[in-house]
Amino acid sequence: MNLQRKMSAMNEKILVIEDEETLVKTLRYNLDREGYQVYTATDGMSGLELARSEKPDLLILDLLLPELDGLSVCRILRQEGSNVPILMLTCRDEEMDKVLGLELGADDYVTKPFSLRELLARVKALLRRVEMLRQEERKPEVISVGELTIDLRRHMAFWKKDEELELSPKEFVLLTFLARNRGMVLSRELILERVWGYDYVGDTRTVDVHIRWLREKIEEDPGNPRHILTVRGIGYRFEG
Ligand code: CA
Repeated sequence: MNLQRKMSAMNEKILVIEDEETLVKTLRYNLDREGYQVYTATDGMSGLELARSEKPDLLILDLLLPELDGLSVCRILRQEGSNVPILMLTCRDEEMDKVLGLELGADDYVTKPFSLRELLARVKALLRRVEMLRQEERKPEVISVGELTIDLRRHMAFWKKDEELELSPKEFVLLTFLARNRGMVLSRELILERVWGYDYVGDTRTVDVHIRWLREKIEEDPGNPRHILTVRGIGYRFEG
């Protein structure tokens, strides 16, 4: 089992509605391996019911389905007020023009045959977009962990209430991410993805370098850190 992938997916629920059984199997296997909770349906009707009962975080929806086609499933869910992100699977590009043109509320699509890598990238991108929107909605103005206070509105961080930390923009985002996930083991890959963005082409040493700089700013003894701890072979954990 891949621990790092498991953590980054945070058990988001994905519902796959697709009638090609081999494809369903492949998707289930790979999404599960990425750490998602996977539900599947092979026709539109039971897919719709599962979408209602399980309230997935993302829907992968085939366009051509028995019982009820993908467009109808999409339209019904939107009419019912669901804003679940929907990734449509389609056979030809022109079919998707119709979907998007009719504004049925699909968020993205891939054309069959697609590579798994591409599909997984789209899934991640959609989930990330949703997560960012959610965070915007419930963003606290101040994060307080032990001796650290981060004022998000003013984009300032303090140590022991009044010592202002002079951080670069990246260090600020990194420290905020660590503080938000205090106590959790965060892999270098996850940090790279969340702080630098998943399109970032670079290696995880970038993370180590920034961690070192942060330690120099907040640790009493950077060589013997008490707050930003190294988790051997994985990454880091923040303790207040
Ligand atoms: Ca189909």
